[in-house]
Amino acid sequence: MPFLNQHSPDTPRQPGDRCIVIRADKLLIHWQEGTPCLPLRSEMGGLQEALGGGGELCLGSLGKEACWAASLPPGDETEAPAGLEWCELRAVTPLLQEDQFQAISCARELLWWERRNRFCGCCGQPTQPSRTERALVCQACRTTVYPVIAPAVIVAITRGDELLLAHNRNFRPGLHSLIAGFVEPGETLEQCVMREAFEETGVRVRSPRYLVSQPWPYPNSLMLGFHAGHESGEIAVDGVEIEHAAWFRRDALPEIPSKGTVARRIIDAWLRGEL
Ligand SMILES: [Zn+2]
Repeated sequence: MPFLNQHSPDTPRQPGDRCIVIRADKLLIHWQEGTPCLPLRSEMGGLQEALGGGGELCLGSLGKEACWAASLPPGDETEAPAGLEWCELRAVTPLLQEDQFQAISCARELLWWERRNRFCGCCGQPTQPSRTERALVCQACRTTVYPVIAPAVIVAITRGDELLLAHNRNFRPGLHSLIAGFVEPGETLEQCVMREAFEETGVRVRSPRYLVSQPWPYPNSLMLGFHAGHESGEIAVDGVEIEHAAWFRRDALPEIPSKGTVARRIIDAWLRGEL
C-alpha cells in the first residue's frame, strides 16, 4: 500500500478514503486481528461532519485510496466512532506498516505546522493555504510559509566490539539508546554528530558515516542515522539530560528501543556485524 505524497487540494471526498485523525498525541485506529489500520471515511460516523470542514488536508494517496488528515482540538472529548479507538501515537506507530507510518508522519508534521502558522509571522494577519503548493500565504503582505522539518542526528558510536548506549532522563527506567540531538543552524550533519557525542558523553568520535533516515513526527523531525568510531576520551555524562552511558557488548545489552524506530534499526545492523 505505497504512500504517494502529493499536494492535491481538489481531490473529491469518497467513502473509501483513508483518514488520519489526530487529537493531541492520539490517533484514531481500527484494529484488524491485532494490527492497527487507518480507518476509512465511511467508518467515521458522527465525526464525518467535523472532518468535512476546511481543516481537512488531502495528503495524496495510500494504495488506491486518497489519504486525508485532520486534527481535533487538544481539549476535544469526542468519543471514537464504533469500531475505532483513540491510541497513543508513539505506542501504535511501531506496529504500523512502513507506508502507513509515512502517511501518519506526513499528516502529523503538516497539521502541527498549520496550527502554528495560522497568522503571519511578519505582519500578524491570517494566512491561507496556497492552491498551488503546500504552503501558507499571508493575504496582506504575501509572505509564504513552507513546512519546516527539524533535522536531528542519531549515532552508533563503536569501540572495537562495543557500542555506546545512553539512558536519557526522559526514557523509561533501564532503557538505553544511541546518542541523538538536533542539528544547529550553520552546522553540517557530521559536525553535529561530533558535537553531540562530545556534549552528551565526553568522547571524541571520528569518520561519521551516514546510514539511514526516518521521519520522526514528534512533532516535526527527521532522524538521520550515522555510525562513527571512538577516537578518544572516557565517558563522562552530565547527569542531567543523560543519566547514564556505557560501552556494551553484544551479549550484554540493556533494554533497547522497540522495533520500528531508527535507533533499533541501527542497533540491529550493529548486532549483525554490518556497521
Ligand atoms: Zn503578512
